[in-house]
Amino acid sequence: MDTFENFQYDSASSYGGMSVVDDTSSVYTANTTNASRVPVDLESLSITDDRSFTSSPNGHSHAVHNKTPSRNAIDEDFDAVLDDLKDEGQVDLPPHACSYCGIHSPASVVKCLICSKWFCNSRGNTSASHIVNHLVRAKHKEVILHSESPLGETIPECYNCGSKNVFMLGFIPAKSDTVVVLLCRQPCAAVSKDISWNPALWAPLIDDRSFLSWLVKPPSEQEQLRSRQISFQQINRLEDLWRENANATLDDLEKPGVDDEPQPVITHYEDAYQYQNIFGPLVKIEADYDKRLKESQTQTDITIRWDLGLNQKRVAWFCLPKLESGEVRLAVGDELRLKYNGGLHKPWEGDGHVIKIPNNVSDEIGLELRRSEGVPTEITHGYTADFVWKSTSFDRMQLAMKTFAVDEKSVSGYIYHKLLGHELEPQVLRTQMPKRFSAPGLPELNHSQMYAVKSVLQKPLSLIQGPPGTGKTVTSASIVYHLAKMNPGQVLVCAPSNVAVDQLTEKIHATGLKVVRLSAKSREALDSSVSFLTLHQQVANNTTHVELQKLIQLKNEQGELSSNDERKYKALIRQCEKEILGAADVICCTCVGAGDPRLSKLKFRTVLIDEATQAAEPECMIPLVLGCKQVVLVGDHQVRLR
Ligand SMILES: [Zn+2]
Ligand SMILES: [Zn+2]
Ligand SMILES: [Zn+2]
Repeated sequence: MDTFENFQYDSASSYGGMSVVDDTSSVYTANTTNASRVPVDLESLSITDDRSFTSSPNGHSHAVHNKTPSRNAIDEDFDAVLDDLKDEGQVDLPPHACSYCGIHSPASVVKCLICSKWFCNSRGNTSASHIVNHLVRAKHKEVILHSESPLGETIPECYNCGSKNVFMLGFIPAKSDTVVVLLCRQPCAAVSKDISWNPALWAPLIDDRSFLSWLVKPPSEQEQLRSRQISFQQINRLEDLWRENANATLDDLEKPGVDDEPQPVITHYEDAYQYQNIFGPLVKIEADYDKRLKESQTQTDITIRWDLGLNQKRVAWFCLPKLESGEVRLAVGDELRLKYNGGLHKPWEGDGHVIKIPNNVSDEIGLELRRSEGVPTEITHGYTADFVWKSTSFDRMQLAMKTFAVDEKSVSGYIYHKLLGHELEPQVLRTQMPKRFSAPGLPELNHSQMYAVKSVLQKPLSLIQGPPGTGKTVTSASIVYHLAKMNPGQVLVCAPSNVAVDQLTEKIHATGLKVVRLSAKSREALDSSVSFLTLHQQVANNTTHVELQKLIQLKNEQGELSSNDERKYKALIRQCEKEILGAADVICCTCVGAGDPRLSKLKFRTVLIDEATQAAEPECMIPLVLGCKQVVLVGDHQVRLR
């Protein structure tokens, strides 16, 4: 499993993409800041002749330090004066200077869209480039290039879905040779049927922990030598400081008191209490940071288009300018609070959850209000929107770590010690192996996939890795099929993201197993390819509870039920959910979703976690502490398993 420190950022390095790009002259993205779906001119790009940037045999590029650059005397004088001025604090770096090292040539820096700080694409003294270091440490994932860079003020975005997550983005050279297409690895590159490019050529934008040099140029050797030399430790402390104070600088590190860091993450723990003592404060820091970020995003002067949903709930449609500028991240299910304090109506506020976020079709956000009464629908202008922060995911992580520590039945002894990094004799589970490893309804497995399936079925803890495009979803679904057939009880299948859970749910359903997709209440209104497998849909479609069907119909027609009926309705829903969950072979949900109270009474002996590399370690704990004795982790390269 990966640690918090090493939150996913290693990309499949087998795909070094430089050579493919040499004769490339345009990049397609879904939306550049200037225009939509227009090739960006790459004409002025030159990448290969930058001899100051070299690659060492282990593939880690770094500045060459053992060679004095040839600079003439005038230059040196100039530098001396410049250094003096710097000492006196009279020369300010431009706003786009790297927040770590001060490098500021426009082609070499990018701005983090989340915190608006700039970072360069050089590694300095660390193994990752400064921008990648920052994105990983801060868990920010979106950037914009400098307006004076060769590609102009461009936000790298998926051509297909508009996703800006640079860790998921890659490019495919189009057949025409003059353009590349940016696509996210999942799902767009995987499902792309466009004949003008070949998905097999997909390569990540971040390779070997820095941005590809045609996208963000590594700074020259001279620039690197002149820049502030910042250590990995300083970077970590600076990032921690920024969570408290976004304007902190390296100078603030010198101040007393700031050195009280949380205990570092280690690879071997005495016991689960030590584990909890180390990860607990880290999760708390994450939660505080997330809360402050969300709460600082109040937006005023919002114009609303009022609407009524099919379920008779009030829906507000509006645009958030901050969202367009990338300052705010919004996901379906997030809660927002709308307020009206203008003079045309008495003050009003109402909470709701987001049912639609901006996409390629429209920039509007849809917010379904919790209560329909008293909404001033005659007023359309002058609203304020606040983010309502929810601690659910962080609470569930903390609870899982506590359960891991205090409840000895939460995981098997073997898994307990393995997770804490203790040395153990390998164990083999005694079960009957299947005769065939391919699963019904799924493509036949190839040799390496078959080997993967075979090797995990009898191991209490295993890890499957493979680069994108190696059929990990089919392999995972085949494993789940056999685990469900070989073992008593239900298999719990999780991934950090809803997208990944849905894909896996679909494949597992194809094998004929009884699958339930458990989604958060706030996401129930959402349509997906596996809607019919979601618990709430299965409840709605059940035929065994006639009275419940009547009440559901009544509620849909009237929007609300009498309090007596509502009580009956809720009790029947709980009953029905219990039956459906109890009859399932497999239950699929996000890692955080595994902390849903509806699962708390169930025990899951067998757990598979997909995209485990992209989950924080305490997040993976949530599905594990429900009694697991066998765990399969699936991820990209670089999963660190203890
Ligand atoms: Zn830098
Ligand atoms: Zn940032
Ligand atoms: Zn995409």
